[in-house]
Formats: sequence, C-alpha cells, structure tokens
Amino acid sequence: MNLKSPPSAPSTRLSAGVRRTNGILTVKNFIGGFWVDADSPETFPVMNPSFGTEIARTPSSGRHVVEDAVNSAHKAFEAWSGTPVKERAQVFFRYKALLERNLDELSALVHEENGKTMEEARAEIEKAIELTEFASSMPQLIPGEILEVSRGVECRIDRVPVGLVASITPFNFPSMVPHWTIPNALVLGNTMILKPSQVVPLSSLRIAELLAEAGLPPGVFNIVHGARETVEAICDHPGIDAVTFVGSTAVAKAVYVRATGSLKRALCLGGAKNHLIVMADAHEEMSATNIAASMTGCAGQRCMAASALVAVGQVDHIIKRLCEAARAIVPGTNLGAVISREAKERIERFITEAEQAGASVLVDGRGVVVPGKENGFYVGPTIIDHVRPDMAIAKEEVFGPVLAIMRAKDIDQALAIQRSSRYGNAASVFTQDGGLARYVAERASAGMIGVNIGVPVPREPFSFGGWNESKFGVGDITGKSAIEFFTKLKKTTVKWNPEARKNWMS
Ligand code: NAD
Repeated sequence: MNLKSPPSAPSTRLSAGVRRTNGILTVKNFIGGFWVDADSPETFPVMNPSFGTEIARTPSSGRHVVEDAVNSAHKAFEAWSGTPVKERAQVFFRYKALLERNLDELSALVHEENGKTMEEARAEIEKAIELTEFASSMPQLIPGEILEVSRGVECRIDRVPVGLVASITPFNFPSMVPHWTIPNALVLGNTMILKPSQVVPLSSLRIAELLAEAGLPPGVFNIVHGARETVEAICDHPGIDAVTFVGSTAVAKAVYVRATGSLKRALCLGGAKNHLIVMADAHEEMSATNIAASMTGCAGQRCMAASALVAVGQVDHIIKRLCEAARAIVPGTNLGAVISREAKERIERFITEAEQAGASVLVDGRGVVVPGKENGFYVGPTIIDHVRPDMAIAKEEVFGPVLAIMRAKDIDQALAIQRSSRYGNAASVFTQDGGLARYVAERASAGMIGVNIGVPVPREPFSFGGWNESKFGVGDITGKSAIEFFTKLKKTTVKWNPEARKNWMS
C-alpha cells in the first residue's frame, strides 16, 4: 500500500455492505441476501493497525436482528438441505475460483483490517482456498452406509444437516477462521449465521458477496455483526441448532456453557500457550529460523504460535542463532502490527513484568516505532531467557511476538512444564533423535504435535483442534472431524422381502 497520509477508510474495494454517513463507514448485516442496518446506535471502531487510524465502524446487532437472520435462514433451509450434495458442492467449486480470482484484493483487505503483512494475508486467503477445496470434495467423503442386517431387512445410514449453525470468529484470521466453518457447514446442507469479530468485519462482507456470486441462494449464509450482546442473543436463540466459536478461552468457556445450556450442539476453540521443546542435538539453523518464524508470524497473534521454549540441556548455540534470526525480522517490513494499542501495551507489560521478576530480555521489542507508521501498533520480536514456570509470561497467553525461554535439565522436566499448562493447542519438539521425538509426541498434552516444525497446523483432510482449555466440545472444527459436527445420522430400517416374515424382525 502506498499511502501519502494515514488511511481513514480501507483503500481496498469494499462490498455494498457498508453505509457512509458523514464520512464514517459502518458495515451492514447480511440477511436473506440483503444488506441491512443493525438495530442499535452502538458501534465499535475498526482500526487499521499498521497506521493506528480508524477506518470503519461495526454495529452492535441486538436480538431483533438475530431473529431476522434466524427467520431468513429457516426459510432457506428446506430448499438448500434438499439440494443434492453434489449440486451444493458445485457452488463451492465456483466460489473457490472466485477466491482465486480475487486473491490480491481479499489479501489487501485482511492486511488493512488486521495489520498482518501482505504475504501473511495472502497465505491466509490461500488457506481459505484450501478449506474450500476440501469442502468441495465432500460428496466423495459422505456416502452413507447400507447393510442387509437380517434376511430381507436392510439398515441404511444417511448424514443429514444439523440445521442452522452460528459461527463466531476472532480477529486474528478475518478470512481463514470463517472458512474453517463456512464451506464445510454449507456443503453439508446447513444454513449459517456468521458473527465475525467486531474488530475485523470487512473481509466477511466480500465473503458474502462472492458466495452470492458463486450461486449460493439467499438466506443460506447470513452475517450478523456485533460483540458480546450479539453472541449472547445467538446462544439463547432456540432456532439455532449449533454454535462454533473460535476466540479466547474465557469467552470460549462462557459461550460453550451458554450455548449447550440452551441445548445446542457446540464446539468452542479457545486460547493457547504453545511449548517448543528444544534438544541439544537439534539442527541449529533449521530450528532457529523455524522458531523465529513461529514466534513472530502474524505478530505472534496465532493460536499456533511458539510462545514458550523449553531448552533441554546445553542449547545456547541454538538460542544465540535464534536471537540473530529474530533481530533480522523488522517491524513494518516482515513483521506486521498487533491488533490494537491495548494489545501492544498489554504485551509490553508482560515483558516488563518478566524482566522485573528476574528474567533476562535477550531481544527487546518494546517501544518500536516504524517510520511512516508512527502511530501503528508494532511490537518487535522479543526473546526472554531464564523465565521461571511460575511467572505470568510462562503461563498466560501473551498473543504477541514474544518467546519465553525456560530451562530444563532433562526431557521429563521439559514435558512436566508443557503438561502443566492449562492450554493444549500445540507442542513441538526439535531434535534429530526419532525415538525422543516419539517419546515427546506420546506424552505432550496437546492436540497438535510438531516434530522440527514450529507451527504444526494439520492440513486438509486432517483436522484442526486442541485439547484441555484450548477447546470445549467433542471433535475438531475442520477436516473429516467437522463432518461429524455439522451432520446428524438418520438410521432407516427397511423390510422389502416376503422372506422377512420368517425372521425375528417380522
Ligand atoms: P475474543 O474471545 O475476544 O473474541 C472472539 C469472538 O467472541 C469475537 O467474535 C467477539 O466479538 C466475541 N466476544 C468477545 N467477548 C465476548 C463476550 N464476553 N461474550 C460473548 N462473545 C464475546 O478473541 P479475539 O481477541 O478476537 O481472538 C484472539 C483469541 O482467539 C486468542 O486467545 C487466540 O488464541 C484465540 N484463537 C484460538 C484459535 C484456536 O484454534 N484455538 C484460533 C484463533 C484464535
């Protein structure tokens, strides 16, 4: 982006889903195929984190808006769920082509509202494309089962959609996380209400437009903007059958309790604190660059980011190389901004408190100013050594480009540190010893394990999901596991044959 002055609106093409009043852009809800205003005057600012300027506002939708979205989804359900899955998949083949055609524009939108670099934003859209590709293959994955269970009697199992699914998403992946649920849920015949993060609502507007352009019928996909009040209205609405949530652990827990309390199927993904265990035999260059990328990618605002390094034995040579690699990562160039001023201040507070508690800051990213983007929310790469497991920075999710190093005398002590975390999204080990890697993979308490890889995100068709307080509910949110969440089984028993009179089922 080549801007002469800090932006006061997105420079990317916006959808029809915005209203401009007195120079202020406010996003609209998308209900039944129409763009509609929310029912409350309350709005939330949407910032461009790279410049620290407000570019739009998100409305707070109340219960009436949620009611309208539910009604429009219900109207669309019969025809959509009754459309053969092979035909539904065709919409997503076309949608995938549209994502590819609009890749540059969609990436720019993510970059503007989230602050991550253009390369990271592009990778996010490429991942959205991969998720859509998986969903498009759904007809190959969900044929039912049929068996003659007794002479002349057959049982068959069909997968039918759950109904209306609400998908509540966080700020850190404005496009990818919505795509964790949209293509799979819709190809499987459900309808959806998406509630994007109020901080990054813009990408969702183009998603709605492109889905419509691909031929998705009105009402199948709806967007309701807002924050807590809107989410609570979603959780309480009896017309919504299932809720998926991705965000912080505190809210994931509250949403899980509230949604299941109103008898919905729920799957709620929460925060993370991912440990990388580094052994002395690890490949120095590969480990150092991999770990530096893992801790700083998306400015550390990934639920899969390296956040704690457990150094086993003498690994100072790797830590030295890691610090060099981290110093080569430059805010504003190959390191994006964090989401808000509050986030920047909170991250810097974690660093200062760790330092005051006796840890040593090897690479310090506090107080960074990027020329030309002086008001941007930047934190530089930060590596802190000799962190004790009882310090806040060792236990809590920092969600910034910060790595806390703890020292362990052996692998069991390292594993004990990892296992004591209340989270359990990812854990990795860096070693050249296959037996040790397996020992860690078997014992680490996390849903996703990496061996010599800093961001062990399983790719389709493998599913994504953590353990412990990183996820509430059964199954994973993507891949084959998502099929279970977004469908229910219908079991039909049929007797055709006159011979059936002879058997016990007559
Ligand atoms: P957040 O919990 O603040 O917000 C997530 C969603 O919940 C948003 O749509 C928001 O509007 C809504 N919300 C916020 N407060 C609420 C409340 N009190 N009641 C009901 N709804 C509320 O999370 P965030 O700051 O947008 O995202 C960052 C967090 O998401 C981090 O903790 C990160 O680890 C987590 N995350 C987890 C995964 C995962 O796969 N486990 C993936 C991405 C992000």
